[in-house]
Amino acid sequence: MLAAARQTVDSPSLNEARETLRRVWGHHDFRGLQAQVITEILAGRNAVAVLPTGGGKSVCYQIPAMLRPGLGLVVSPLIALMSDQVASLRQSGVAAARLDSNIPPQERAEVWRMIESGELDLLYVSPEGLSGGNLLERLTELRLSVIAIDEAHCVSQWGHDFRPDYRLLGRLAQHFPGVPRLAVTATADARTREDIRTQLSLEDAAEFVDSFARPELILSAERKDGSAHKRVVELVKARPGKSGVVYVGSRDGTEALAEKLLEAGIPALAYHAGLDKDVRTQRLEQFLEADAAVMVATIAFGMGVDKPDVRFVIHADPPAAIEAYWQEIGRAGRDGLPADGITLYSPSDMAWAYRRLDGRDMAPEVKQVQARKVRQLYAMLEGMACRALSVRRYFGEDVSEPCGQCDICLAPPESVDVTEPAQKALAAAHRLGGRFGRGRLVSHLLGTTKEVSDFESGLSTWGIGKEFSPQGWRDLIDQLLFEGLLKEDPNDGRPLVGLGDGEAVRLVYRGERRVALRKQLEKLDASTRSGRPRKRTREALASLAPENAALFEALRAWRRDEAARQHVP
Ligand code: ADP
Ligand code: MG
Ligand code: ZN
Repeated sequence: MLAAARQTVDSPSLNEARETLRRVWGHHDFRGLQAQVITEILAGRNAVAVLPTGGGKSVCYQIPAMLRPGLGLVVSPLIALMSDQVASLRQSGVAAARLDSNIPPQERAEVWRMIESGELDLLYVSPEGLSGGNLLERLTELRLSVIAIDEAHCVSQWGHDFRPDYRLLGRLAQHFPGVPRLAVTATADARTREDIRTQLSLEDAAEFVDSFARPELILSAERKDGSAHKRVVELVKARPGKSGVVYVGSRDGTEALAEKLLEAGIPALAYHAGLDKDVRTQRLEQFLEADAAVMVATIAFGMGVDKPDVRFVIHADPPAAIEAYWQEIGRAGRDGLPADGITLYSPSDMAWAYRRLDGRDMAPEVKQVQARKVRQLYAMLEGMACRALSVRRYFGEDVSEPCGQCDICLAPPESVDVTEPAQKALAAAHRLGGRFGRGRLVSHLLGTTKEVSDFESGLSTWGIGKEFSPQGWRDLIDQLLFEGLLKEDPNDGRPLVGLGDGEAVRLVYRGERRVALRKQLEKLDASTRSGRPRKRTREALASLAPENAALFEALRAWRRDEAARQHVP
């Protein structure tokens, strides 16, 4: 009690923090949840903060490190990220340094001298750096002001960028009792947040989750043909004099596309992890300094890149998951002015994403979660719901107001009304009472469950959806998940499907809210009208992932039925 009281009296005030923000960074005031997070740390308590990319997570630990007595320890996953931050802190007159494998022995000794003399406010280390050598041991003898774990989603295999070394950070709690610890990340769904708490012994930490809204981002997605180079050139040309990032799935791909852009007279640079470090640094600087430059990059480019006037991010190949999507697109419009986020994707990209997962060595339940992330990404890209809304709901925000500026909001795509099958799926999910996963819901609707129980076969919804393909149902269920009509509850990697928002579900039951599934493959339909229709359709279908072909067939069947119904007098 006494200790706590004294702590509060002694702890620096938020006013001092604000004064530091103004003096060192020149920002007028805190934004979003920064002030709350900083207050928590200044009072010596732990916190978990999920703030959007560009939201200003760094000052949440930098300021407490400067104001509280002792050394602030920052764990960060990338050397490039650390070196950027340290350089810019030093430029602003903050005593910061980093210790990582790239620091030569002489400089290392100098850093230690500053640490031990108490001159240093902030020390950046990598998780590997902490686990190797005697760094941790030497640090335990010092007084620490705060321990920050940046990009904390890396600790969780439910996140999208798991780093085994992050697991070791759980030990920090025992090594530094009483030192406030702050985990920050831009991307963590509820499950990942829970895992971050467990892994990092942050069970008692206050949680701050900011809105994921980025109203300056104008989102769109479109299906692409083949490599999409031509389309990217078109999109970039339509934005003359603007800076942007184009993400490409392969290293070779970045070089080839940069070449194409250069041929079209656009100042483009390629960037990927296979390039020499000096070349990378040079290109990064060129990009940061240019008024208008296009960086054609793999995902090696990005974490920590802070160019305020990026006016567009184009995914020539789709991102890995919605987390990555938001993080990568989020690099546009950091100055708060409008910026475009355009994603090009194809069924074969999706098939490839699944195949790649298959080849990876990971626990089956992790694979399942990752597969779900792929599914959710493509459901969003192909979906009928406002993109900004889909993303924010994915991150657990309870919002329902469409953004009014994404491609879907501006021009709702042609769609197939699937309200009736949706009612069946919702009824089935209701009867099954949230006991089963998505696959079982589908086989229940189809009446094909193996080893069906009396309970299940006795339900009125058993086999009521025989007319659709399994893939048709899966797509519809994804759509219902996206609209919040169904929800998936985590359950040891086997999510259980239950009913979502009750009021919305009731509206669908009563037919007062329609459910639509995006009409697929408009281009295929168009091509059947010219030339040799049957053959071209068949050829085109053959080139598609089987699940899309199945859906296409199902949609055609629906449309046939629809047409037939309309002709009945
Ligand atoms: P994050 O790590 O959350 O992606 P950063 O910490 O790198 O974001 O900050 C992004 C940018 O926002 C930086 O240029 C930073 O100086 C700026 N920033 C941080 N806090 C504020 C604030 N309160 N007002 C204005 N700009 C801010
Ligand atoms: Mg950051
Ligand atoms: Zn929208």
